[in-house]
Amino acid sequence: MKQDTVIVAKDLSRHFGEIVAVDHLTLEIHTGEIFGFLGHNGAGKTTTVRLLNGVLDPTAGSAHVLDLDPRTEGPALRRRTGVLTETPSLDERLTGRENLEIYADLYGVPQDQVHSRVAELLERAELTERAGEKVGGYSKGMKQRLALARALVHRPELLFLDEPTGGLDPVATRRVHELITHLSHEEQRTVFLCTHNLAEAQKLCDRVAVLEHGQMVALGTPAELARQVGHSQQLEIEIAPPGMAAAIETLRAQLPHAQPVHEAGTIRVMGAHRETIPDLVAALVGAGVRVYRVAAQEPSLEDVYFALHGVQPGDEQEESLS
Ligand code: ATP
Repeated sequence: MKQDTVIVAKDLSRHFGEIVAVDHLTLEIHTGEIFGFLGHNGAGKTTTVRLLNGVLDPTAGSAHVLDLDPRTEGPALRRRTGVLTETPSLDERLTGRENLEIYADLYGVPQDQVHSRVAELLERAELTERAGEKVGGYSKGMKQRLALARALVHRPELLFLDEPTGGLDPVATRRVHELITHLSHEEQRTVFLCTHNLAEAQKLCDRVAVLEHGQMVALGTPAELARQVGHSQQLEIEIAPPGMAAAIETLRAQLPHAQPVHEAGTIRVMGAHRETIPDLVAALVGAGVRVYRVAAQEPSLEDVYFALHGVQPGDEQEESLS
């Protein structure tokens, strides 16, 4: 295993009777990466996390995580990983502080460090003021931040986060995103992030894998994946409306394969790359068109996701993917 490789999975598979939850998964994840694991409901994300933590044995294939074999060295491995499950169970009758203290005990944090460790995590989760209150009275966002703090109590090198922002409002989501970014960028922890949220993956992740029915159908940086479906790149050109006819004619001459469409003073040109902008602007200005704004819209991870699944955002199938 290379020094900077935290997770290596080779042909990892897990069946449940007839169901193939994970199907020959092969991947490597590096130190300090935020790795996005995308997939529809039932794609096999949670099963993969369980396999990589040694909670579940594979039907076939192998994995090494932090240089340990999850199948035979699960307890040692789990002392070095933190897991935030999709529905974390906190003890609602206890206070936020007590929830963390119990976990610190459970994970063998030295007694003389528990107090300061818990105080630091409460501060980081912005829960210090409410730490003495019973968790039953916390909001969903507070509970989620507490659960994340709990996953960090033993200072794990590798964090598995399963839908960490599911059901949170935009402000709570942003706080969790900031925490995740800090853990990776400032503390060089590796984050394995399972999500259906494409905007989240695009914002946070260095690389992403797309899982479909247990199989990995794409792997790369968001930009690399976006390039694979480069056809969905588009330009948006805003002009002074009297020049519309001249502008459309010029665009058709410059980009014979593009299909410019316009509404009010804005023209959209599908399939046009940003490299074409200087020549297009020169041609438009040459044709007497007054150009106010030109913007290249790179395909998003959402475009990639739907292109890989052969559907367009808005199609019926979109519903079942989110
Ligand atoms: P979600 O996004 O809905 O959480 P997921 O991508 O995490 O989904 P998994 O929970 O890994 O998907 O499930 C993958 C498949 O394996 C599903 O068909 C699921 O029903 C099945 N599965 C998972 N765990 C078990 C189990 N313990 N027994 C039987 N089938 C299971």
